[in-house]
Amino acid sequence: MTAHSSVPNVKLLIDGELVESKTTQWRDVVNPATQQVLARVPFATAEEMNAAVASAAEAFKTWRKTPIGARARIFLKYQQLIRENMKELAALLTAEQGKTLPDAEGDIFRGLEVVEHAANIGNLQMGELANNVAGGVDTYTLHQPLGVCAGITPFNFPAMIPLWMFPMAIATGNTFVLKPSEQDPLVTMRLAELAMQAGVPKGVLNVIHGGAEAVNLLCDHPDIKAVSFVGSTKVGTHVYNRATANGKRAQCMMGAKNHAIVLPDANRQQTLNNLLGAAFGAAGQRCMALSVVILVGEAQQWLPELIEKTRTLKINAGAEPGTDIGPVVSCAALDRVSGLIARGVEEGAELLLDGRNPQVPGYQDGNFVGPTIFAGVTPTMSIYREEIFGPVLCVMPAKTLDEAIALINANPNGNGTALFTRSGAAARRFQEDIDVGQVGINVPIPVPVPLFSFTGSRASKLGDLGPYGKQVVQFYTQTKTVTQRWFDEDEAGGPVNTTITLK
Ligand code: NAD
Repeated sequence: MTAHSSVPNVKLLIDGELVESKTTQWRDVVNPATQQVLARVPFATAEEMNAAVASAAEAFKTWRKTPIGARARIFLKYQQLIRENMKELAALLTAEQGKTLPDAEGDIFRGLEVVEHAANIGNLQMGELANNVAGGVDTYTLHQPLGVCAGITPFNFPAMIPLWMFPMAIATGNTFVLKPSEQDPLVTMRLAELAMQAGVPKGVLNVIHGGAEAVNLLCDHPDIKAVSFVGSTKVGTHVYNRATANGKRAQCMMGAKNHAIVLPDANRQQTLNNLLGAAFGAAGQRCMALSVVILVGEAQQWLPELIEKTRTLKINAGAEPGTDIGPVVSCAALDRVSGLIARGVEEGAELLLDGRNPQVPGYQDGNFVGPTIFAGVTPTMSIYREEIFGPVLCVMPAKTLDEAIALINANPNGNGTALFTRSGAAARRFQEDIDVGQVGINVPIPVPVPLFSFTGSRASKLGDLGPYGKQVVQFYTQTKTVTQRWFDEDEAGGPVNTTITLK
């Protein structure tokens, strides 16, 4: 598709300038509630992408020497600008992604928390010192930036996930090339503009657009030292293999199938409300969405009430007040979700609530699918094995907590899980025995705040260190250990030491 003038063209950010791409390949950015074309996004040329990396490499020479205080103050200013522009950012996000306006503000807010954390970099990037490790010898560590780092982000959190990446990379002294999702790059671009306004120097943050070709260039480019990826398991595995084969650090946060366990002693109304919010919020398009609920013992009798409560959720455009569930991101996503619901029926699951083809007055063209509930789901069914990434909840029974834990541990994914109970002993057993990286106790979506790091595990993650928090400081820096000794002017030289010991 070629660009034409009726809608704006999304710009590239290269060397501090917003530039129009010279590419011939463009893609529409579409409002999922209306199909209105909001903008066109370029697939940058190799020359443009190389220019972005070259600019970041040049900027690194001075940025790496910029004092901590100067770096931190940019993020103090940046958090203020994000707050001041919250409503405008949320409206842009909802228009291109579909989620409700309050949830769009939540998306931005969870990213803002990382920006606030980046403003605290002085406390985070400190080394260690051991005094007198041998006679007159001290050892200490420096945490030095790597160089140019790259970020590749998914469509579902177009504010939060870019903000997981570039603020911490830049605050630790690196420069950055970001490739946002080509499905909804507008709010990400606005956030990049605000970062420049906050004082990020030219070349320190660059943004390129594109798809597989852009991602492959970032994985291959010799000047890029580390790659952060968030997205599907298939693409993340490819990125991890390709980037690490090229000697880069890589961290890939990927797909999920998150289970909640409900014990019969749980607070019933709180539990049901939390389950619905986590299963159907953002139309199920969260990597931490609860897509499987295991009802233990008598909690299985809660199923009719779960369905009744689900029927009260309002499906509408995300920009309409009172909406609970907006559209899914694209027509292709709608086809995928509808197809998986059909497969669930074919494979013998019991469709208790069918959300397909809801009527949404005024938004007949939107990609809507309402909340859908399956019971009688078994681990071999497609709706259990695949990440549906839509508002579809699979309900499964278990006799005991141990049986439910065993089911979750047999699933390959390890992003998030939750237990609803009033029993401290059950909660502790769950916390100890469950093989999932992020655990909620009466908390349905246990995404840690940036005092901690995002710690998905098993098939949901490749690479040791997670995004944001303390772990990402390690990811974006090289630890250098300095062992030093100073001789007094008049110190006599002893005999030559040919052993490994420090004397
Ligand atoms: P996606 O994998 O399709 O796209 C992610 C990025 O990869 C985009 O920037 C895209 O342009 C690029 N890409 C797409 N196809 C590619 C290819 N063939 N080669 C190279 N690059 C390619 O993911 P998505 O649909 O945008 O996002 C949804 C997925 O992200 C879900 O699986 C969800 O669970 C996952 N996700 C995970 C986390 C987490 O923290 N674990 C967070 C959010 C989303």
